[in-house]
Amino acid sequence: MEEYLKQLNESQREAVVYTDGPSLVVAGAGSGKTRVLTYKIAYLLQQGLPPQSILALTFTNKAAREMKERVASLTDEQTARRLWMGTFHSIFSRILRYEAERIGYPSNFTIYDATDSKSLLRSIMKEMQLDDKVYRPGMIQSRISNAKNALVTYKAYEQNKELVQHDIDSKVPLLREIYKRYQNRCMQAGAMDFDDLLLQTNILFRDHPDVLEKYRSFFQFVLVDEYQDTNFAQHLIVQRLCEVHRRICVVGDDAQSIYSFRGANIDNILQFKNQYPGCRIFKLERNYRSTQNIVNAANSLIHKNTKQIQKTVYSEKEEGNKVSICSSYSDYEEGYAVAGKINDMRMRNYDYADFAILYRTNAQSRILEEALRKRGIPYKIYGGLSFYQRKEVKDVISYLRLIINPHDEEAFKRVINYPARGIGDTTLNKLIAAATEHNVSLWTVLDDPIGYALQINNGTAKKLSDFRELISGFIQRNVKLSAEEIASAVVKESGIVSTLFQDRSVEGISKQENLQELLKGIAEFCEIRREEGAEHVSLADFLSEVSLLTDQDNDKEEQANKVTMMTVHAAKGLEFRNVFVVGLEEDLFPSAMSKDNPRAVEEERRLFYVAITRAEENCVLTYAKSRYRNGQSAMCSPSRFLKDIDTQYIYKTKDAIADGLLTVTRRPSAFSSSFQQPKAVEEDTYVSPVAQAAGRLTRMETASSSPSSAPASDLSGLYVGAKVRHDRFGEGEVTAIEGDGGNAKATVSFAHFGQKQLLLKFARLTIV
Ligand code: ATP
Ligand code: MG
Repeated sequence: MEEYLKQLNESQREAVVYTDGPSLVVAGAGSGKTRVLTYKIAYLLQQGLPPQSILALTFTNKAAREMKERVASLTDEQTARRLWMGTFHSIFSRILRYEAERIGYPSNFTIYDATDSKSLLRSIMKEMQLDDKVYRPGMIQSRISNAKNALVTYKAYEQNKELVQHDIDSKVPLLREIYKRYQNRCMQAGAMDFDDLLLQTNILFRDHPDVLEKYRSFFQFVLVDEYQDTNFAQHLIVQRLCEVHRRICVVGDDAQSIYSFRGANIDNILQFKNQYPGCRIFKLERNYRSTQNIVNAANSLIHKNTKQIQKTVYSEKEEGNKVSICSSYSDYEEGYAVAGKINDMRMRNYDYADFAILYRTNAQSRILEEALRKRGIPYKIYGGLSFYQRKEVKDVISYLRLIINPHDEEAFKRVINYPARGIGDTTLNKLIAAATEHNVSLWTVLDDPIGYALQINNGTAKKLSDFRELISGFIQRNVKLSAEEIASAVVKESGIVSTLFQDRSVEGISKQENLQELLKGIAEFCEIRREEGAEHVSLADFLSEVSLLTDQDNDKEEQANKVTMMTVHAAKGLEFRNVFVVGLEEDLFPSAMSKDNPRAVEEERRLFYVAITRAEENCVLTYAKSRYRNGQSAMCSPSRFLKDIDTQYIYKTKDAIADGLLTVTRRPSAFSSSFQQPKAVEEDTYVSPVAQAAGRLTRMETASSSPSSAPASDLSGLYVGAKVRHDRFGEGEVTAIEGDGGNAKATVSFAHFGQKQLLLKFARLTIV
């Protein structure tokens, strides 16, 4: 047997080497589904399939990158590079670039991100004089997105009585009109939004059988990861490509279907065998990721869902630590507790990169960040405002977009008066009005203001023509220049550099740094492409890549040794040695919107299952008893999901017992670390910073009691770097901690009394 096939268990190997027909691998978290796909690609290559004939679709760009690296290590880099591997959006945008003209788009079409789409929707609604409290842009955007993902074009929408009635009922009867205008404006601007990439691919394949035929014979094998989260548009693309040759392998886990709000349909995986009669189904049962306690805890949780494919998942790893549940008084203290615990655990042979903090909503990250910063813990955040969404970065990108496609309306609006060149809103509105009236782009109007009877004075006319000259000049030069050359010309000649460099505030400097970072990024991109053999790396190449980055893709920090922070949604498919799932409260996780809908609660439970199953060794669940939300602090109760986990896999903490989450079956005998001595004792207390500040410097949750690690249970609330107050010496900062139990000592550098070493049992320090 080939060496690499020995790195699989028997069921995995069977799934890998089966290539006679369609196959489905349905199995629980951590059982090696992604590994099977990766090895299957290596196997297909070994069987002689050319790499460019293999299409592998992943859920995130990051997953695609990792898989590519793995395939490269099993084969070689050249081969891995030639695979068609990526997200649905990135793969099909590439295909659309080749074929755009067939469906009425230019091949240099722009891709609108969510911010662009929303901004366009806002302008349209303003033009229609609609109240944005009734026609809420976010809601409108997601209704249009859902329609597109269900392959309902605006024409079909208008004719669909049910949808139209639904809009009337929900008091947004003009939604169909907005959709229509939005789509027309995108067309005029030569732009596709993210959903269009899938919708237009479907239209392309539906209306152009010759094109479909070409790609059918081109892609000889299709593989899809995370199939449970495909939506109708994605499902149909795959079906169109595979229904004839049926060389397809999909993997997924119905228990991890968490994207129904984006139109993902769990039935796609459930119906797969009906759709491909004779398909082989493979089950994988052994989880290789997590310890037994974590696997068992997750299983006991997911069994509370009614709708699921029954599966066995077991781990042969060690029993491991139980899951911990920790409560705190407020969201603020929750942050401190997590940061404190990471600090404690790191002293026991973990790197920062071994930790992940997962939350239900992006809004939770701020307080956690603050706590990590105060402790000096480095972290990286996935999602939120990504690098390319920052204003100063997006402004430059908008110039670049305009050079590639001057009809791009959103880019145009961003830069027409940036840096300020005296073209105000009044003028812009006149441009928009003329463009809308004549069904042309803003650029077209700009190109011929007299022809479009633009009512402007000579001064404004001059400013507009200067702007047009500026962009046209770049467009001409772009033919010859590389992406990095044109980008650096743009930032200098447009006046961006001088504008930014006038601002010497901290914010201003950070903007300049971001600008430098962007230019560096473009240069690196060019270099990589050149190494890959490209002779000319164009701006268009760079933009196609950048515009497909989503909030699930990290900016460039990947290799750094940092704690990862992300939403649970973004964590799908990933694994970390230690995972904190925070904010386990009713109305947050499960979310308030889902709580009255049993199907929605089941989806939230699946989301929680995804969260727990990311952990390899330790899983800590936290909740706060009060949380600051919507401008006020509100009391919260622990999430119902905490009660779904079988108590035998959870440490029995005082908090959890007091909150009624657990019952005591055995009296805890002594305090100890839940991470270090999992089987010995089962207590875990957390003393809030408030209590500490009140003078009771006591133990913090899961205090380390190992002889090898310094902090003893009665001082682990204290940490190096903590600001403290002493009755006599006043304020100071802890510079070292040593000793254990009654002998524990802290070295404190006091502002007025210099350095002192204090025996903690006497010192009565207070954290300030
Ligand atoms: P998820 O449902 O979370 O996406 P998955 O089923 O895709 O999980 P993988 O990520 O492929 O699971 O595998 C989980 C971990 O177990 C990975 O670190 C993988 O390398 C490891 N693993 C899987 N199978 C084996 C094996 N046969 N031998 C050793 N390690 C394995
Ligand atoms: Mg996976």
